[in-house]
Amino acid sequence: MLPALFISHGSPMLALEPSPARHFLAGLGATLQRPRAILVASAHWETAQPTVTAAAVNETIHDFYGFPPPLFAIRYPAPGDPGLAQRIAEMLRQAGLEATLDRARGLDHGAWVPLTLMYPAHDIPMLQVSLQTPLGPEHHLHLGRALEALRREDVLVIGSGSFTHNLGRLRRVEPGAAPPPDVVAFAEWMHAALQENRTDDLLAWRRKAPYAVAQHPTDEHLLPLFVALGAAGEHARATRLHASTTYGALRMDAYAFA
Ligand code: ZN
Repeated sequence: MLPALFISHGSPMLALEPSPARHFLAGLGATLQRPRAILVASAHWETAQPTVTAAAVNETIHDFYGFPPPLFAIRYPAPGDPGLAQRIAEMLRQAGLEATLDRARGLDHGAWVPLTLMYPAHDIPMLQVSLQTPLGPEHHLHLGRALEALRREDVLVIGSGSFTHNLGRLRRVEPGAAPPPDVVAFAEWMHAALQENRTDDLLAWRRKAPYAVAQHPTDEHLLPLFVALGAAGEHARATRLHASTTYGALRMDAYAFA
């Protein structure tokens, strides 16, 4: 059975610039049994109520500014799966979530940037489900749990965010430079809580994790972690697949939950 994944997508330049995280993601697809479809909860799609993309073919959304032209030239025209989208919306409704479909929206960069690395052939149907950031981690864990059955149907559920995400602290550093101590302290607290399956502590990360505000001035890049954690079920075990830091303070860690 496929795991559910949390991956850090970092800067859109991940698609082009060599880095340890890029190298990791480029090899990740080959380590997994081939999914029949992929559902991504990305930090870059927030709506008032859970929404599932239901396009027949996905547009590539270049939802960023000030990056070099080659990044805007990348297309990831993976097919959608409107029938599966309908079923996913029904699964969410059965869990008490008022879900809808969006038949026009394509893939944002939180979805397509890592997927260009994991599955460059863009031949696996792709869907996205939106976040409801103001509703917090419990809501996203519940949303993920509603999708648990998808793993048994060979649908790969991916939460795509960033293990730390304070864009005001990004800077150019030498490759391999040690990240600041507060970034490490936050990441290691999260790692221990994930390894020990301390769900209550994880849900209270904003209050309990050290230096939480400095790592996540806003919540949306950590919430996909809770969707992935939920999708693996109540007794999911976490495995750290990758840990690295880019731009001085952006942690690129990835986890599998199964
Ligand atoms: Zn992002």
